[in-house]
Amino acid sequence: MLRIPITVCHGITSKWAEYPLTSDHLGKMFALARELGFESIQYDHLEALMDGAEPGSGDIPKQPILFDFDHADKTMLTEIQPLLAEYGYSGTLFFHTSPLDDPRLASKVLNWDEIAQLIALGWGIGGHTVSHPNLSRLSHTDPDGDQLEQELRTADADIKRHLGEQPKDFAYTGATWSSIAEQKVKQRYRFGRLWINASYCLADGRRTPVAELVGIGGADEYDGGPANAARYITVGNTALQSDRYRLPAMEICSPLMNNLDQYRNYLLGALES
Ligand SMILES: [Zn+2]
Repeated sequence: MLRIPITVCHGITSKWAEYPLTSDHLGKMFALARELGFESIQYDHLEALMDGAEPGSGDIPKQPILFDFDHADKTMLTEIQPLLAEYGYSGTLFFHTSPLDDPRLASKVLNWDEIAQLIALGWGIGGHTVSHPNLSRLSHTDPDGDQLEQELRTADADIKRHLGEQPKDFAYTGATWSSIAEQKVKQRYRFGRLWINASYCLADGRRTPVAELVGIGGADEYDGGPANAARYITVGNTALQSDRYRLPAMEICSPLMNNLDQYRNYLLGALES
């Protein structure tokens, strides 16, 4: 059984006053991952692993880690990409497309050319809708998922038009999820990824424990987050393997992961498996 750590961040930001992220701090996190022997992988590698490839075979590292980045924040290119490169890492950018069309946001949001630059530098990309709706709430106003389907189709077509490739993977928006969203995501993408910043998320209009949603179960930990096993992507024989449409991912700027000790413990937890 292999446990793969996976984090998300939304850029170098002081937006969440309590949990700001500086380049300096993110660099220390990458340095720690490097020191402990982790190599970053892309979702193509994850697919190969889940299909039975052995860690350490071909171009799949023995100790994989995923670095996800949500939203087309300018700092992904200006600050985060150089830091990743310093440690020989690369990431995957999941972004909703509406901010790219808003001229008022042009100084803060990556444009299509800049996203193309990230791809050229080795990043993967993934879908994240057009307007970033609350999927749990949307499941009530749009029970058949037609509106969501439209969001997914429009975002995919825009990405294809501007970047020449359609995203194969998807990140659910905010800490929200719904059964109908998952059904729609399954029709278009090979992976669906959650965003975890607490022990629960909003699913089908209900506050739902993350551990329950990812099918692990178990009580919350002392830090107030979900059971430890629910915080990693697990690759192994069928019973233990993570659900491809409910992959977890831990937000760095959260009470669960914002200091280096927490991050170190998280990485060490993957090595103990
Ligand atoms: Zn988002």
